[in-house]
Amino acid sequence: MKNKSKNIDINAKAGSTKENHTGSWRTFKPVIDKSKCIGCKRCVLTCPDNAMKMQKTKNGLKSKMNYDYCKGCGACANECPVNAITMKRDEK
Ligand code: SF4
Ligand code: SF4
Repeated sequence: MKNKSKNIDINAKAGSTKENHTGSWRTFKPVIDKSKCIGCKRCVLTCPDNAMKMQKTKNGLKSKMNYDYCKGCGACANECPVNAITMKRDEK
């Protein structure tokens, strides 16, 4: 039988990541060692939740974390070519 219900939408709206703060249930969090970061942007391009940005510093372009949106998946740490990101247990 065909479901005639309306307003059933189990998929998130495109571009709605900013509505989802994920930091409350994260188990591990990425910690950046800015002295190692070479500003390659791989972490930014990899993050599925847009939780990382690049910022200009006096030592060049460095990555910056927004923990409100980080779910602790570790993808950024896996991608970093210089191991500047370490996953640490998130103590709350
Ligand atoms: S751990 Fe996952 S969600 Fe958090 S910043 Fe890295 S890639 Fe993004
Ligand atoms: S992937 Fe690593 S080196 Fe590249 S911008 Fe991110 S933290 Fe820096």
